[in-house]
Amino acid sequence: MSEIVIMRIGHRPQRDKRVTTHVALAARALGAKGIYVDTRDPVLEENIRSVANRFGGDFLIETGVGWKKAVDDHGGTTVHLTMYGQRVDEALEKIPREGRMMIIVGAEKVPPEVYERADFNVSVGNQPHSEIAALAIFLDRFTEGKALYEDRGGKMTVVPNERGKTVVDISE
Ligand code: SAM
Repeated sequence: MSEIVIMRIGHRPQRDKRVTTHVALAARALGAKGIYVDTRDPVLEENIRSVANRFGGDFLIETGVGWKKAVDDHGGTTVHLTMYGQRVDEALEKIPREGRMMIIVGAEKVPPEVYERADFNVSVGNQPHSEIAALAIFLDRFTEGKALYEDRGGKMTVVPNERGKTVVDISE
């Protein structure tokens, strides 16, 4: 399975703090290894590292990273999620399953160059919705749901429960 990282572009720290936090949390929960964010945002970094520290795994977050450099340095398959792209079901037949993958998601208008640089421009439906929803659906389909209940070896582990909350906290 590919090692997946996210490139979040157009992040405005004040306006997008909740949405970008949720992009990062969804990415982590659904099997990505890390996220790059174009605008520097130390608070966002701290919040995501705190979750990873408690719930496990070695999720990477770096902010203040321009998308062109990130794409060049990454060198793997680039998937840009956009409502204008080809159908996700058709794209998934062509996207390599192995190797490294960078998934680009926008905030507001995405520069035309992103569409040109991406190996695949992929839509999750052709209706406008959200980067969190598009990323979650794409990752879940690409990984066939395998990341959802992976053991992350965290200090805190949630045990699935029909009713109530069961959390094992080994930090106490
Ligand atoms: N109107 C903007 C544009 O032209 O790029 C889209 C803004 S949308 C709020 C923010 C991000 O959500 C997009 O850049 C894209 O990554 C993602 N997105 C929204 N709808 C999508 C869809 N139907 N399929 C795939 N990605 C989508």
